[in-house]
Amino acid sequence: MKTLDEYLELAAVAHGHLCAGQVLGVRLAMLGLRELDIEDPIAERKRVVTYVEIDRCVTDAVALVANCRLGKRALKFRDWGKVAATFVDLQTGRAVRIAAKESSKQLAREMFPEMGKDAGQQKAYAALSNEVLFDKQWVKVEVLPEDLPGFKGPRVVCAECGEGINFKREVVVDGRVLCRACAGERYYQHL
Ligand SMILES: [Zn+2]
Ligand SMILES: [Zn+2]
Repeated sequence: MKTLDEYLELAAVAHGHLCAGQVLGVRLAMLGLRELDIEDPIAERKRVVTYVEIDRCVTDAVALVANCRLGKRALKFRDWGKVAATFVDLQTGRAVRIAAKESSKQLAREMFPEMGKDAGQQKAYAALSNEVLFDKQWVKVEVLPEDLPGFKGPRVVCAECGEGINFKREVVVDGRVLCRACAGERYYQHL
């Protein structure tokens, strides 16, 4: 594993700027990986699946450190608006969920009042202990075969729109195989 400063340098480039979220996210992911005894997430890139619970700054840093990408199916997004992530070790089956403590934000804001808001928070997130910043829980996560990186399965075609569907994401409605959009989960409207 790299050092906090090394990760922060990489995170700033990948994310576009250095911010408090990057510091918190790097710390969060380093803790999660350490708990799982994963020393080198790059070398062991097929070992970890990460579930993130928010789409904000912090998520970019978590994904970077854990080396989990959406396009590799190793990053899973649950849109719950919570600064938390669960790291699943596919090798051992162990999983740990790390959540930012509600109290940590206020604490970080007040720690270096002489600095600018984000700069002070960055410095505080780098300095505070894991115990002060995070709650840690050992959990069990069942990663379905079709959710695993590298899953190979048949592709089916939606009986309504004709588009192909991978990874068993189809649903059967009244005996017809449909994509989720045609089954009623559409997030867009045709114009
Ligand atoms: Zn940011
Ligand atoms: Zn369809």
